[in-house]
Amino acid sequence: MKCYKCGGHYQEKHDSYIWDDPFVGKLQIKGQLYYQCTKCEDILLSSEMASEIDKTARERRQALISQFPLSDFLSAKQTASLLGVTRQALNKNRRIKRGFIYQSSLDGVNYYLKQSVVQYQKSQDGRFLLDSESTANKRAFHSCSSGLKPRYEPVSFVSDG
Ligand SMILES: [Zn+2]
Repeated sequence: MKCYKCGGHYQEKHDSYIWDDPFVGKLQIKGQLYYQCTKCEDILLSSEMASEIDKTARERRQALISQFPLSDFLSAKQTASLLGVTRQALNKNRRIKRGFIYQSSLDGVNYYLKQSVVQYQKSQDGRFLLDSESTANKRAFHSCSSGLKPRYEPVSFVSDG
């Protein structure tokens, strides 16, 4: 496979990889298949690696969200009212389910991180960087004709997708 950016070629790799996630910072991804350009180091993800990244990012995000004190969260009722929707609409909203509002559950009840709700209200995306140690140095991904798709959008940490 040829890299269209630099003319180099992609080499198959099966190592652990440090992934810089835009919302949870650096993650160590355990040995999964990916392809890396030998010249410019651009990478292409296999679906196995993409799902490993999703899983690792989801766990990390959940851990970071759970560090916020309960007073930083809103109930579903408060969240729905702030967003001007019914609770049912809130529960069914796919973007919110997919994690565009940070949430945590306690005894089976969902709580929504206030800061995230407020941000979602403005931009339909309540995600923000949870790890302050992360660098702003983001790697750019592109897709190639191989059909391998780069994954840059984190998925929900709600398991019942
Ligand atoms: Zn390249």
